[in-house]
Amino acid sequence: MLKTEPLDVQRIRADFPILRREVHGKRLVYLDNAATTQKPQVVIDALVDYYSRYNSNIHRSVHTLGEEATAAYEAARGKVAKFVGAPAKGLVLLRGTTEATNLIRFAWGEENVRKGDTLVTTLMEHHSNIVPWQLLANKKGAALKFVGLNKDGTLDMGQYEELLKESPKLVAVTHCSNVLGTINDVAQICTKARRAGATTVVDGAQSVPHMPVNVESIGCDFYAFSGHKMLGPTGIGALAGKKELLESMEPFHGGGEMIKEVFLDHSTWNDVPYKFEAGTVNIADAIGLGAAVDYLSAIGMDKVREHEVRLIEYALETLAKVKGFHPYGPTDPRKKGGVISFNLADVHPHDLATILDEEGIAIRSGHHCAQPLMRWLDVAAASRASFHVYNSYDDVDVLKAGLEKAGAIFKV
Ligand code: PLP
Repeated sequence: MLKTEPLDVQRIRADFPILRREVHGKRLVYLDNAATTQKPQVVIDALVDYYSRYNSNIHRSVHTLGEEATAAYEAARGKVAKFVGAPAKGLVLLRGTTEATNLIRFAWGEENVRKGDTLVTTLMEHHSNIVPWQLLANKKGAALKFVGLNKDGTLDMGQYEELLKESPKLVAVTHCSNVLGTINDVAQICTKARRAGATTVVDGAQSVPHMPVNVESIGCDFYAFSGHKMLGPTGIGALAGKKELLESMEPFHGGGEMIKEVFLDHSTWNDVPYKFEAGTVNIADAIGLGAAVDYLSAIGMDKVREHEVRLIEYALETLAKVKGFHPYGPTDPRKKGGVISFNLADVHPHDLATILDEEGIAIRSGHHCAQPLMRWLDVAAASRASFHVYNSYDDVDVLKAGLEKAGAIFKV
């Protein structure tokens, strides 16, 4: 069964050359999409086309290649911005979500956070949305506080309201958990944070690739995401920020391109977003990300989301029949992104992932860069199956058979 109602998975699979390969003599069943997604031929072609036809530095040269490369890079910025409902001038292209939160930590945090301030994040965050705030809080003598979770893996909104009474300087929250799959009501969270006077950061690493996102209607100050999780290349991502805020901030990195004028004793800064794009930027991969956005837009993000809701629903139902299967996070597929983290009785996730690999199945095992959440779940590690447009019910069936095989080996 390949066709989930909204997507023709057979046709989509043909666009991804890597899905033609075998692993240990078996069809590759790639279920590690929350870590990184595979790339369609159009993205690979965009990279090859740039390097073989118009490779050049941008914003500097007046020759034809330079102008073509500049136009393609800026066109990619425009596509990525439109994809998330942000103005192109408010979209910084950088390495990804982690670089984006670190940019905020330095370029916003150094000026705006003082001793005694409170910063708020949550227990379900990826380390990328914890460690930069920890570094900032420790340096400034501020307190970093965490919104806890309800039993079902949703945020404890009552506790959030309590923390807002401390008038935090910053609220940093994920749109979708990379472990639990919980989709947070970030529009509501940001509205409440704004009323309390906080600057808001939303981690969109697991949402932009999987569902329609509009940063304007979310109303956050900053929204960060990574290209490699949305069918684009590695090493490229974006930070959408409120333009006035970006304009008021100090630069992150100093060097070429981010300046207007340089004197011996001081410099003046280029306009936003260039102020935050120091040095030679990742031109090829930005153009590749533009191609990924075109590909996803042609499918339609509404359809991508509907496809994943059906897959999650089918997977939760199907895998529940496997003895010892224990999933984490919300069980309503409409409240969950495209990830299912689980344990199989007390089989170690690394052992499980190794056995599944022999069946051609790629899943992630470990702490998922969310150690505070793992402690809250009271497990050292978990396995995670995560989906994208080329997965279908047959992949879930193969996973079920793999889990049953592992269960038999470990006498679950
Ligand atoms: N935030 C979440 C929720 C993630 O899942 C990830 C990656 O797994 C990141 C942040 C970090 O993304 P990157 O490594 O692309 O910077």
